[in-house]
Amino acid sequence: MAISQDQPLHLLNTVFGYPAFRGAQREIVEHVVAGGDALVLMPTGGGKSLCYQLPALLRDGTALVISPLIALMQDQVAALRQLGVRAAFLNSTLDAREVAAAERALREGALDLLYVAPERLVMPRMLELLEHSRIALFAIDEAHCVSQWGHDFRPEYLQLSLLHERFPEVPRIALTATADLQTRVEIRQRLALEGAREFVSSFDRPNIRYTIVDKQDARQQLLRFIREAHAGEAGIVYCLSRKKVDETAAWLIEQKVSALPYHAGMDAAMRTDNQARFQREEGIVMVATIAFGMGIDKPDVRFVAHLDLPKSIEGYYQETGRAGRDGEAADAWMTYGLGDVVQQRRMIDQSEGSEEYRRVSFAKLEALLGLCETAGCRRVRLLDYFGEASAPCGNCDNCLEPPQTWDATDAARKALSCIFRTGQRFGSRHLIDVLRGQATDRVAQWRHQDLSVFGIGADIDEATWRDVFRQLVTLGFVRPDHAAFGALRLTETSRPVLKGEQRIDMRRLALRKGKSATVRRKASADGMSAADAMLLERLRTWRSEQAREQSVPAYVIFHDATLSAIAAAHPRDIDDLSTIHGIGAKKLERYGQALMSLLRD
Ligand code: ADP
Ligand code: ZN
Repeated sequence: MAISQDQPLHLLNTVFGYPAFRGAQREIVEHVVAGGDALVLMPTGGGKSLCYQLPALLRDGTALVISPLIALMQDQVAALRQLGVRAAFLNSTLDAREVAAAERALREGALDLLYVAPERLVMPRMLELLEHSRIALFAIDEAHCVSQWGHDFRPEYLQLSLLHERFPEVPRIALTATADLQTRVEIRQRLALEGAREFVSSFDRPNIRYTIVDKQDARQQLLRFIREAHAGEAGIVYCLSRKKVDETAAWLIEQKVSALPYHAGMDAAMRTDNQARFQREEGIVMVATIAFGMGIDKPDVRFVAHLDLPKSIEGYYQETGRAGRDGEAADAWMTYGLGDVVQQRRMIDQSEGSEEYRRVSFAKLEALLGLCETAGCRRVRLLDYFGEASAPCGNCDNCLEPPQTWDATDAARKALSCIFRTGQRFGSRHLIDVLRGQATDRVAQWRHQDLSVFGIGADIDEATWRDVFRQLVTLGFVRPDHAAFGALRLTETSRPVLKGEQRIDMRRLALRKGKSATVRRKASADGMSAADAMLLERLRTWRSEQAREQSVPAYVIFHDATLSAIAAAHPRDIDDLSTIHGIGAKKLERYGQALMSLLRD
């Protein structure tokens, strides 16, 4: 089929309702339409789907989309059908009759896209069916699943190289949001994509605001954050353990937040149910372990909060990347304290992994701690980690409210001295009591009131001391000893500090207490008149009704941004309406009248 120059853009406008391509989308689409293989690296929310959906419409035959995320296929297909695209899926959730119908449609050339689970695709029966069908392209989504070193490894993915052997003339496009070099190399090798052109996008997510706060009373801090910045909005709260997930979810519910728990220890049916509710209903806060995540493509997640420290910057970036995929303002918020550092170090120390594994894990943790402790722009630090240079962003806590530093040389010396004098066998809580001259039972038991360090730090408050100890650990002057219940021990590097030969500046986190850099109004209602805001609420209600009737998620009908644009633009007729982003021909035909009558009321 001959493709005219503007055909991709024309389809983007009319089918998807978007005015322009984003980043490298156009180049990728043209490359694949022309029959080339591609390896696409784009951050979560970057717009990967269009890179194969448009070629699927532009090339003859059916595009096969291989994805491990069975739970999502149904929603993805529903969203495409809303746009008038002929799509179907094949996975283990279908019964025999439904499978037969999809297979028939494939054979008859009645499908633009077919989503398939990898294990099903490589079955002899399926391959045989493909031989007798017309295949436009293979799109291999979540391509990093071939990497045996990654945490999403799927053995079935290794067999996908046979696609190249069986169908050498069909173009293949592999897509992932995992950017590191090792994974890239593995994808190329294992999928026989050596000759594929590589498209690497910027990994910046400018609409996400990064904030890392000093851990005080984590739950209350979280609740304040949700109430002040995200009341009634959808979000994800990550915790390290299943127990903490259950407890936090229950507590949030008591506080009238619509929270649901999710972790691998739950009954499978309940887990699936909670995920479906999060995906479909509005304003649900999912409290989860990292078992929840891959395959969450809900575009209107307004915040991702971490109550515990992730293992690495890769993990942090992947988890926070689930916020704001629709491009609207979103928050990545984390509380972090000394306890987190101690806990993560212990997990690595006690892991079964090899020496090499531990070394790499410690290095990754160090990099993440650097991000937590930096007084500079968080985004610059994050992007730098992925090999991308950038300038201060103006949309992170440190840019918005630059942290102050103070000369902590004397305090550091007192803290180190206190560790030494008490025999290097205590954690920070007791050490702080000694420094502040508190007559606790423990102090009495060890006769620490007799030490020269007792009470030498009474002029500094407890929260500041916690900061000092945490920074001493992250700066490497002190190491928690896990064999001794996290007792703090001095390292070699602490000597010059102890002797007063090295000056130490620390960031003053406690100053931020109470103030919140992230307080802002709901993005969608920003700067709207009361009348427009009311209209927006009515549009939302209408959308919820539509979603319920058709049993699809609300964003499949229209995204938040589209509803906000309608409320702000006051379209007078169908023509006006058609110029709004996110309203393509099919949706105009389907919902135009209903929207116009709602607007006229
Ligand atoms: P990814 O798979 O890379 O995480 P998606 O393909 O799900 O991202 O796209 C993320 C969001 O961006 C979706 O809501 C999608 O509709 C939107 N989007 C993608 N491309 C464009 C574009 N060119 N213009 C406007 N919105 C887009
Ligand atoms: Zn910044």
